[in-house]
Amino acid sequence: MILVSACLLGENCRYNGETKPNEFVINYLKDKEYIAFCPECEAGLPIPRLACEIQGGEGQDVLDGKIKIINMKNIDHTKDFIKGAELTLAITKEHNIDTAILKERSPSCGVNYIHTGSFDGNIQKGMGVTARLLHNNGVKLYTEADIASLTKT
Ligand code: SF4
Repeated sequence: MILVSACLLGENCRYNGETKPNEFVINYLKDKEYIAFCPECEAGLPIPRLACEIQGGEGQDVLDGKIKIINMKNIDHTKDFIKGAELTLAITKEHNIDTAILKERSPSCGVNYIHTGSFDGNIQKGMGVTARLLHNNGVKLYTEADIASLTKT
């Protein structure tokens, strides 16, 4: 069983109400069992919602209570993002999921990169909150780019 960011499969769950379907991920999962999940929506954040960014660190810093996640109007959503991460981890435990395919650059799902916290489009190395919590609990993480590379070879 594989966990996958719901927006990669065409669900309109992104902050802007849109989706990011990825043909490589969709094709890869065709003959596999998976669960599509959106940590932010499951935590109760609405669609659409203002973009949120981790403020200057990465998912581990948020989990450690060192930094916040705010939206573009400076509203603190740290608790919502941690709740989304915990709900996602609970799903992996419930279904014995050891692998996840997550949407890169998201403050929840980013595996290698996230935005810097300046809301200027720049990115930095680091994991989103959900990705970090899953990683800390032994879930193997892949991005849509990893699946594309895998599928092409
Ligand atoms: S939280 Fe994850 S699954 Fe939900 S829209 Fe953002 S990247 Fe996609």
